[in-house]
Amino acid sequence: MYTILQKYFGYTSFYPLQEDIIKESLGQRDVFVLMPTGGGKSLCYQLPALLFDGVTIVISPLIALMKDQVDGLLANGIPATFINSSLSYGEIDIKKRSLSNNEVKILYIAPERLVMPEFLQFLQRLKVCLFAIDESHCISEWGHDFRPEYRQLKLLKERFPKVPIMALTATATPVVQEDIITHLKLSDCRIFKASFNRKNLHYQIKPKDNPYYQILHYLKGRQKDSGIIYCQSRKTVERLSTSLQKDGYRALPYHAGLTAEARTENQERFIREDVEIIVATIAFGMGINKPNVRYVIHYDLPKSIEGYYQETGRAGRDGLKSDCILFFSYADMFKIEYFINQKTDEGERQVAYRQLREMANYCESNVCRRRLLLAYFGEKLDEPNCRSCDVCLEPKERFDGTIAAQKILSCVYRVGERFGINYVIDILQGSKNQKIVQNQHNTIKTYGAGKEYSKSQWQAFVRELIQLGYLRLDGDKYPVLKLQEKCRNVLLSSEKVFLIKPEEQISVQKIDAGEDYDRLLFERLRTLRKTLADQEGVPPYVIFHDTSLKEMSIYYPQSLLGLRKISGVGDQKLMKYGKVVLKEIADYCEQHHIMPNQIAHKCSESPVKQPKTSTVQMTLELYKQHLTIHEIAQKRNLALSTIISHLEKLILDGAGISIDSIVATEKQLHIQRAFKESGLEFLNPVKEKLGNDYSYEEIRLVRAKMMCGCEKKQ
Ligand code: ADP
Ligand code: ZN
Repeated sequence: MYTILQKYFGYTSFYPLQEDIIKESLGQRDVFVLMPTGGGKSLCYQLPALLFDGVTIVISPLIALMKDQVDGLLANGIPATFINSSLSYGEIDIKKRSLSNNEVKILYIAPERLVMPEFLQFLQRLKVCLFAIDESHCISEWGHDFRPEYRQLKLLKERFPKVPIMALTATATPVVQEDIITHLKLSDCRIFKASFNRKNLHYQIKPKDNPYYQILHYLKGRQKDSGIIYCQSRKTVERLSTSLQKDGYRALPYHAGLTAEARTENQERFIREDVEIIVATIAFGMGINKPNVRYVIHYDLPKSIEGYYQETGRAGRDGLKSDCILFFSYADMFKIEYFINQKTDEGERQVAYRQLREMANYCESNVCRRRLLLAYFGEKLDEPNCRSCDVCLEPKERFDGTIAAQKILSCVYRVGERFGINYVIDILQGSKNQKIVQNQHNTIKTYGAGKEYSKSQWQAFVRELIQLGYLRLDGDKYPVLKLQEKCRNVLLSSEKVFLIKPEEQISVQKIDAGEDYDRLLFERLRTLRKTLADQEGVPPYVIFHDTSLKEMSIYYPQSLLGLRKISGVGDQKLMKYGKVVLKEIADYCEQHHIMPNQIAHKCSESPVKQPKTSTVQMTLELYKQHLTIHEIAQKRNLALSTIISHLEKLILDGAGISIDSIVATEKQLHIQRAFKESGLEFLNPVKEKLGNDYSYEEIRLVRAKMMCGCEKKQ
């Protein structure tokens, strides 16, 4: 498992639960996997697929994504393919043929095609080892994305009773979970539930004072980062994306009012990083596999915590720090309430109200955001301080706000509890607003008594008084402030009120500081990645993830050996892009006078330790005892090719293995020459050139030597 993890995926360790899930799956059991977005679900079926001797079928509703997913696998040297309606009959035929020849390890397919009788018949002739059902919540009417065609998947257990099923989802509600297990007829299945805590996401809620300005402020210095901005209405989406474009940002709109083509195109341009920002209604996101979304901004209040969690969840799938910022205002809350009131179905209305209330509580509360989110999914946060939300990071300082509170409360009293928040604040600030003059509220005692604070500061005080239970908002269409029993003592000066000290200015905290990597180099590598991606017609993340680029910008790898230690760089990518990447890094180092000794220092500190899996280690021990490879294979009861692959790995890890006793010097030189002619990337051309006198094993060993620059000198 570890060998494959490193070789094909370039990772050195598993994410939580992955290893157990894979083991269970290799043991032919049905499993149910519940993991948040970014939890690493795909690896759970992709890795076992490589260990099975037949094919793994991945069922996914997202046809648009299949090609990218398959490209991603191919880029890692994994034989994968997809069949969907975008292909011609001829193309499908070719794919079917290579499936029949057992040349494919992973097949992606949509459920409606899978359950066609003839396709099922075709499958029955193959050696199917696993059905992985991605987005399996689509089977449940209770989920947020019910797809009737998923119901048909119940056929799988009937037709393939022996083939294990792995159902995966990021939807955490128990009803949905039960639905999935029942409908798929999973027998005696093991349930794996990962924590829904997304540690790399930083949650912030900001009062919505001047949201456009707040967004511009946030975006400054992060022009190159990808982000999603969610709005409630199409109109806001259009307005906001146009404004951002005018301000020099590459932003595109996405909403249900656009044609299907325009939507696909905008989404595609976002994924390929031709633009950085998508401004969207919630219609956007399902099936966005882009791992490096660095921020998700909610310009308007979301309608439910569940939705908010899913939407913010699209940030930081790659595990790197990402921001989730929500702009909260009462006005938004009332807007949603207004729409809820229009609903005719009483049950639906109740549910919508409850969801809105939960959402508002979340925004107003002074409890750690993460704690509340997790509690919503029935999970408890152990640490007292999550260190990655606004509540935990910016503990609010309080001051004796009794006088400010008295001004607000008495103003509410004097206007007869008949007006809303902004009106009351206008009076406090002595506004010449026509309505105030008409109502003669410019003559009351509190008129103009609140010039010491800004409008947004007064708004914050009012919000807090509501939260503390001194005031409440009442009324359907036009919410007005009402006094609560509790404020009597404050007005009589027999009780003090401590309010949160007002913020000096509008700010949205940036959380980039402290992350120590070379941003200039990162940018250069990002540009290189984009070029490579465009050449191959794949999204940039298929080439390298941000995580990999970031590590390169910390350790400045100088050799293929060093590059191989970077997370996400498996053998295939090493061979395909190793050279260009190393050249870019070397050029950069030269231009910026980064000295080799500095680099060496950094490289030796690489946190990416190679897993010394015991089996490779055992081979090494025997090798040190001067056993021949045949003896080692015999002693360990393993195939010769396995022992060779251990040695290959050890060579690449820099273990100083000599291959002279395995491959004759003469042969080594021939193999080297062949590689120099056709590049290190593929074995086949070299094998073809050299013929049957040379085995793949010999060729691989020599290549490994060449990759770490220890080839035989002539
Ligand atoms: P999900 O489908 O659960 O949202 P993905 O399968 O897309 O998650 O994985 C999320 C990210 O984590 C991807 O960028 C993936 O390459 C990366 N990843 C998955 N497993 C590992 C691992 N063991 N080590 C490092 N990165 C991993
Ligand atoms: Zn917190």
